Amino acid sequence: MIWNDLDLKNIWHPFTPWQAQAPLFIESASGVHLHAADGRKIIDGISSWWVNIHGHAHPSIAKAIGEQAAKLEHVIFAGFTHEPAIALATDLLKLLPDQEKIFFSDNGSTAVEAALKLALQYWKNKGASRTKIVALRGAYHGDTFGAMSVGERGLFTKPFQDLLFSAEHIPPPSEGSAEAHENVFTEEVAAFIYEPLVQAADGMKMHSPEGLDKMVARAKEKNIIVIADEVFTGFFRTGKFTAGEYLTQSPDLIALSKGVTGGFLPLGVTACNAKIAEAFRTPDFEKTFFHGHSYTANPLACAAANVSLKLLFEKKCQESIALIANLHRDFAQQIGRHEKVKEVRSLGTIFALEIKTEGGYSASVRNTIYNYFLERDILLRPLGNIIYILPPYCITREELTRIYKAIEDFLNSKMC
Ligand SMILES: *Cc1c(COP(=O)(O)O)cnc(C)c1O
Repeated sequence: MIWNDLDLKNIWHPFTPWQAQAPLFIESASGVHLHAADGRKIIDGISSWWVNIHGHAHPSIAKAIGEQAAKLEHVIFAGFTHEPAIALATDLLKLLPDQEKIFFSDNGSTAVEAALKLALQYWKNKGASRTKIVALRGAYHGDTFGAMSVGERGLFTKPFQDLLFSAEHIPPPSEGSAEAHENVFTEEVAAFIYEPLVQAADGMKMHSPEGLDKMVARAKEKNIIVIADEVFTGFFRTGKFTAGEYLTQSPDLIALSKGVTGGFLPLGVTACNAKIAEAFRTPDFEKTFFHGHSYTANPLACAAANVSLKLLFEKKCQESIALIANLHRDFAQQIGRHEKVKEVRSLGTIFALEIKTEGGYSASVRNTIYNYFLERDILLRPLGNIIYILPPYCITREELTRIYKAIEDFLNSKMC
């Protein structure tokens, strides 16, 4: 096909080696299905890149974007404002615990980047010299330089190693770890950043809410700015609106993105509490947060987010989220006994299974798994030897069962 040739010739795909197989050409999509140019109907088991929470091409979101586009497509957000952004910020603040202001950007990395810069400038504005950042081992916070710096060092960050600022990476919470971390959370530390409950890119690794809660409390005792990166976990991915709702402590800053627009348009959200906001509420020009992006608070993205938010709280969607969580839990219990399974994890709409074989992002089994499911018209994108399902919330019991069955068949095959 001519398009495939042009793609191969002209396009550089993300996270993709140049010798990789030709990408699949998708013509359209609806609900949980992607419609490929070769006529195949592929079930999207990972909500596209973890973003598509209501399924593809949801008519209400599409309609809202169309109407917004015909009315106001974009306006500079410094000195100007508009209804979709105000409505979104107002609704988000009702849902995020103890948060006071919303700062918009374009994606998950920039939402994190803004949170880090706000935390660091907070201390400058206060006239203090705290600059050290504590993060979790295995962390992934995005691909910009600040986000890479606080992330785990590895294959992705290797070419930039010498230029990344240092961060102290501590083990994710486990039994008794809060005590062990007492000497990490000192008064030199500016900020503590973490992915609450699920470290997604690290392989859907999960930790206990109690352990994290203790860590956050410890950090707050030392007045450390606490940043929750909810880019992945937000918008009911873990079964609650944010993973933070499983904790008693609330963070000073929250980064959101991925699910925010229902997977239609890029948008990043950084929320902050009164403590952060107060440090910037000053007539001193130099204490301004001099940060922004051309597409900040894009009206189309905000309009999509407003509809997506409304859909999320409808009974139908809430029931579906609860059903997915139950089905995942049952399947985890059943398949966890399989001889090929090293570990299963599930929380809310997230299911992950680690196969007893060589792991790591570059493990060869990864391509075997990916191709096995794609040949069966199921999109799963394993992380090394870890298979996970992150379905759009509109998935049915039958569709989910089809994915479970395929996973079981794969484990029973001689392919792993
Ligand atoms: C995906 C992700 C990011 C980065 O978001 P992008 O929109 O891809 O830049 C940051 N943090 C977490 C936890 C993520 O899962």
